[in-house]
Amino acid sequence: MQTLEQIQSFEGKYPKQIWSLFFTEMWERFCFYGNRGMLVVFMTNILFFSDQEANLKYGAIQAFVYAFTFIGGLFADKILGFQKSLLWGGILMILGSLILGLDAKANFFYGICLIIIGTGFFKPNISTMVGELYRAGDPRRDAGFSLFYAGINLGALFGGGLCVYVGKTYSWNMAFALSGIFMMVGLINFLLTRKNLGPIGQAPVTTNEKTAKRNQYLVYGGSIISIPFIYAMITNTAYTDIFMYIIGPATLLYLIYEMSKLNWEQNRKLVGAMIFIFLSIIFWSFFEQSGGSLSLYAEKLISKDMLGLNFDPNVVNNSANSLFVIILSVFIGLMWIWLAKIKMEPNYFMKFGLAFIFLSVSFYMFYYTRFLLDNAGLASLGLFTFAYMVISVGELFLSPIGLSLMTKLSPKHLWGVMMGMWFLASAYGQYVAGILGAGMASPKKDASPMERMIAYTDGYQQLALYALITGAVVIVASVFLNKLIADRAE
Ligand code: GLN
Repeated sequence: MQTLEQIQSFEGKYPKQIWSLFFTEMWERFCFYGNRGMLVVFMTNILFFSDQEANLKYGAIQAFVYAFTFIGGLFADKILGFQKSLLWGGILMILGSLILGLDAKANFFYGICLIIIGTGFFKPNISTMVGELYRAGDPRRDAGFSLFYAGINLGALFGGGLCVYVGKTYSWNMAFALSGIFMMVGLINFLLTRKNLGPIGQAPVTTNEKTAKRNQYLVYGGSIISIPFIYAMITNTAYTDIFMYIIGPATLLYLIYEMSKLNWEQNRKLVGAMIFIFLSIIFWSFFEQSGGSLSLYAEKLISKDMLGLNFDPNVVNNSANSLFVIILSVFIGLMWIWLAKIKMEPNYFMKFGLAFIFLSVSFYMFYYTRFLLDNAGLASLGLFTFAYMVISVGELFLSPIGLSLMTKLSPKHLWGVMMGMWFLASAYGQYVAGILGAGMASPKKDASPMERMIAYTDGYQQLALYALITGAVVIVASVFLNKLIADRAE
């Protein structure tokens, strides 16, 4: 078995272990985005929820998915280790998808509960393992996360596109089962390749083996026992609100407690990490309209025609972002290297600020789709797709960089927690996205297509403005904020 030292002294651009994590995450994202892409369409068409209800439920489900990443990260740091967490999470995700595959209508919320807990154990911990492949200060870390991010999106592209297509064309049960089957492929891939990870992701070293084992079983048991509670919370939006009010402040208090044991050098970087996390909440609240309101906008109000070809706008909505991320990540990666060479690479805060500017431009484009209508009064799919290209640039200026920063700015014993907090920010983003989406949906159940279009696009115009303001503020403040996270030698 290779030692950590050997793994981290790899030559070339990427450590070879990254491929195992790349493919495992790719299939997990297939499953996740496959399910995610089906949620609102399934809820409105099969469960007969109104647009407003579906947006709210979507936000709540997504919020729980990402909120559990904090819990998954915490238990991985303290009890299970990253590898066991990932395996446990993967098993739960498979079970969840398969029971949806049996009868999605009857088992809908139970399947979703299992997927929520499973993703919580899986998602943050695989990203943390990528971080462990690099020594502190290794300049290749960002490139590793960019590659890993392309893997995420490869899975999202196929899952998001294929599952909603199979669901709409053949059968929803089959589509949910499909996502479970691909999750199995991911888990088998991990089991076959995990030996290459050496000590990375093993359970924390302990003096008392017996207590450690007992704690592990408690975590497994506890996650099963929590199912009815999660069920109650996602089916009743009022409970979701309470949960969201509590989990954020509670994690913040926990972090402050951990920070009280650290010195200022470590703490100033953690404060920097918290600012990135906070900014990402705002980013995802807007961005995540993609799974909610944009999904509904695409379903009935966008034309199927683009450049003379026929597309399903929902498939475009679910896949365009990932496709652009995969293609653009190569160019943006090269651009960073070139800018670094000529000493013009923007600092991390500046990159986040620019991410908001791209976000703003994309929402102005979503807004503008209502002025480009075809003969049937449907909005332009071409502009809609182009807006997805612009939003994907914004995502690449923020999301893979944020993952890398979490392992760069925090001490190792807090990696799981910090990665969990990074994704918890997505939970808040999703939660707010659902509320924003519901606010944009026309309140009338029998609203005309035109009324629905105006309601949604008015909302997009507002989001564009807020994103613009946020971007401008962050760009100006980046000069000062960067000092927080700079290494002393810089
Ligand atoms: N698309 C990325 C992923 O699935 C980021 C998601 C997020 O953090 N909201 O990992």
